[in-house]
Amino acid sequence: MVKPLDEHERTLAFAEIALGQIKSLRQTAIPRNYEIWYVYATGYNAALNKIINETLSRNGKLTESDLEQIYETYLSQLKTSDRIDKVGARVIGEIDDVMRLITEALGMSASYGASLDGANQKLLSVQNREQLKSIVESLVKSTRDMRETNRALEDRLSLSKSEISNLQHSLEAIRAESLTDPLTGLGNRKYFDRSIEAAVAAALESGEPLSLLMFDIDHFKSFNDSYGHLTGDQVLRLVGMSLKQTIKGQDITARYGGEEFAVVLPNTGLRQALTVADHIRRAVMAKELKKKSTGEILGRVTISVGVSMLKEGDDTDSLIERADACLYAAKRNGRNRVICEVDPEYSAETQGSHTQVA
Ligand code: GH3
Ligand code: MG
Ligand code: MG
Repeated sequence: MVKPLDEHERTLAFAEIALGQIKSLRQTAIPRNYEIWYVYATGYNAALNKIINETLSRNGKLTESDLEQIYETYLSQLKTSDRIDKVGARVIGEIDDVMRLITEALGMSASYGASLDGANQKLLSVQNREQLKSIVESLVKSTRDMRETNRALEDRLSLSKSEISNLQHSLEAIRAESLTDPLTGLGNRKYFDRSIEAAVAAALESGEPLSLLMFDIDHFKSFNDSYGHLTGDQVLRLVGMSLKQTIKGQDITARYGGEEFAVVLPNTGLRQALTVADHIRRAVMAKELKKKSTGEILGRVTISVGVSMLKEGDDTDSLIERADACLYAAKRNGRNRVICEVDPEYSAETQGSHTQVA
């Protein structure tokens, strides 16, 4: 039984790194900070590591408010809407502070202008050295005051600049998270709906081809029933990973529903789309599944893929409907295959069995 020991040692190593960071940065060893550093040590949360590295290289330390913000943005389970409200409140607070400061600075600048005018008047009627000296002294004083105010304003504005950039990061992280499927790290349904809408509109306008793949894991229910939901989730992650490894560039990948995935391929005709679909099918099939906890070999999963290509008069719905019908035809014709809308199996599906092409 080597496996449990490995896990024990691996997690202990993360724990040691986490405590080491807390010690060397002289932070409080409260659970929140430990969690932040533990996750940092695992490297699983790339966004968290990035913001920590950036903050450390910029400021050389993490303040209490940095830690709180990092925790809230990247780790806490607060609902997205609550987090948006919080960030929104901080944006408003920041704007209020800066406005107050600017109002003060304007007041200061007006009174400095008045003191210059006053000095100007007095200089016209100056009688002796003493009077001149006192005018110059008061000018020096008000100039010094003005400089101090300017410096304070500059400091505060530069603080504000970095706070606003933190807020931008927080908003960006929330936005990305709201469009990401947490299980696979692919885009979620909301992301898919938005992206396909935009891609279809762009393709219709430019006349460039666009294809859509929809695929579904074969016999996934029986897989779940035999090995449990957690292993089922592991399969979904594996399929997500195969998809990421196969798809590059401008293509849009998403988890469309439970065990269904979708890929939008801009600038891609049917023939090329079929090649991509078959790459994905093979990549999924190539992976052997192993149960993490026991090392038991669970075999392989396959997928069925439907492919449609945008044509004149299409909209997003009709394109999806055709890919979905092709996917259904792939299932009906034995699964673990790719069917597109010019295949006879698809025509048979949509026109009834009596028109089936031999
Ligand atoms: P087919 O080859 O016809 O697609 O068969 P199937 O068993 O894959 O299809 P069916 O639609 O009957 O079952 C889909 C199953 O997917 C139902 C459910 O058990 C499983 N499923 C859906 N979403 C999730 C999920 O998020 N996690 C896990 N583990 N299973 C899921
Ligand atoms: Mg299925
Ligand atoms: Mg399904």
